[in-house]
Amino acid sequence: MKSAEIRQRFVKFFESKGHEIVPSASLVPYNDPSLLWINAGMAPLKKFFDGSEIPKNPRITNSQKCIRTNDIENVGKTARHHTMFEMLGNFSIGDYFKKEVIPWAWEFLTEELKFDKDRFYVTIHTEDDDAFEIWTNVVGIPADRICRTEEDNFWDIGEGPCGPCSEIFYDRNPEMGKDDVFHPDNHNGERYLEVWNLVFTQFNHNADGSYTELPKKNIDTGAGLERLCSLLQNGETNFDTDLFLPIIEETARLSGKQYHTDLNLDVAFKVIADHIRTVTFSVGDGALPSNEGRGYVIRRLLRRAVRYGKVLGIEKPFMYTLVKIVGDIMGEYYPEIVTKREFIERVIKAEEERFHVTLADGESLLADVLERVKGEGKNVLPGEEAFRLYDTYGFPIDLTEDICVEQGIEIDREGFEKALNEQRQRARAARKDVSTMSVQTELYDELDIRSNFVGYSEAATSAQVLA
Ligand code: ATP
Ligand code: MG
Ligand code: MG
Ligand code: MG
Repeated sequence: MKSAEIRQRFVKFFESKGHEIVPSASLVPYNDPSLLWINAGMAPLKKFFDGSEIPKNPRITNSQKCIRTNDIENVGKTARHHTMFEMLGNFSIGDYFKKEVIPWAWEFLTEELKFDKDRFYVTIHTEDDDAFEIWTNVVGIPADRICRTEEDNFWDIGEGPCGPCSEIFYDRNPEMGKDDVFHPDNHNGERYLEVWNLVFTQFNHNADGSYTELPKKNIDTGAGLERLCSLLQNGETNFDTDLFLPIIEETARLSGKQYHTDLNLDVAFKVIADHIRTVTFSVGDGALPSNEGRGYVIRRLLRRAVRYGKVLGIEKPFMYTLVKIVGDIMGEYYPEIVTKREFIERVIKAEEERFHVTLADGESLLADVLERVKGEGKNVLPGEEAFRLYDTYGFPIDLTEDICVEQGIEIDREGFEKALNEQRQRARAARKDVSTMSVQTELYDELDIRSNFVGYSEAATSAQVLA
């Protein structure tokens, strides 16, 4: 079943249960300073959940584009995470509650999509006996397929509606650890794939951090379209589906490398396919690369993708040429990425060209430094020098490392990390002084902290680096 059909079937299924189908909102939150990006299907519907607006129909369904920067490092590593994905959702604004939504989710999965009933497991909140009762007695799931957990089963994204949840998992590989007792974290979350989260919204998380019972209880659900696709198309990962393969195939053509021949190259293919979607959609929704907030996310994703392009041997701007493919795949449901295609391409191309200049400048600076080091009869590049290239010129440390290795020079990694940490402390302290936008502070912290993996740590800590 193709992705477009799954998306369509979902919203049509809930339309048949009295829901109004609403189009995806922009990725850029409207009137919501608490969020950097729309990160869940309910985010643009908060106004209904908190009662500040009354919807025409209290039952709503959508397929919402979402961005989650906290999943950047997971992309290409796990089978199931993207920076941008589509969340299929059904919502009840003070209308139906648990006893309707649980059986409907089950009906959609097992009757509409015809998944094997015996491969599902669910989690519920430790204290949620109502949910347990509905899953076992109404739906008929054996009690030993239900796991009560505390941490992951309370949906709370900060200010706004929140409450206990019940998550639905599909066993991708019953052969794996046959005697396992189900727990969502087993096998790093890769055996039991979380496909759908049902949130029983009964509280409001207030600005001062307190929680109050909502006058009317709500339902908010989210199912990952890409994950359903991977299951229905027998893809090993979300990337092995009609949503991503055409992008990967084009990247393979451009690079002359093949997908599924080398694990490292596969990560590169996946990251590129992921990031081009995020950048295409976010620029399509009016965000632009910059050194702050949303723009910084776009800039960082593009630069990451360019670096992964280099892993595949692509040395020229290429990301912008993939915008068309993204449009071919998803433009029918999201016409904005087709009508704005030329603009999106132009923005991406300019940004890619700029980064290539940064890289070229960095390379020549590094050549000078190495010349000097060798002239002094040494074979270690001082950590501060590596850091200066990284911090002042935006030159990625792993590139410095590659070049040094080629020339038989070592990097003083300890010195580099020390300088990096000092810079982070300074940046954090500075942000604490001037920050009025907590979301942004968090974002920088997140990007700083998470930039430390397999060397792709180009997330520059100081904004001017990226100018
Ligand atoms: P996971 O535990 O796998 O990271 P989650 O619990 O963070 O997922 P939710 O916040 O419950 O996810 O979001 C609802 C649904 O959206 C998930 O059940 C999943 O199907 C999908 N989803 C969440 N994050 C991502 C992502 N980064 N990429 C793709 N799909 C996602
Ligand atoms: Mg998650
Ligand atoms: Mg989860
Ligand atoms: Mg979840």
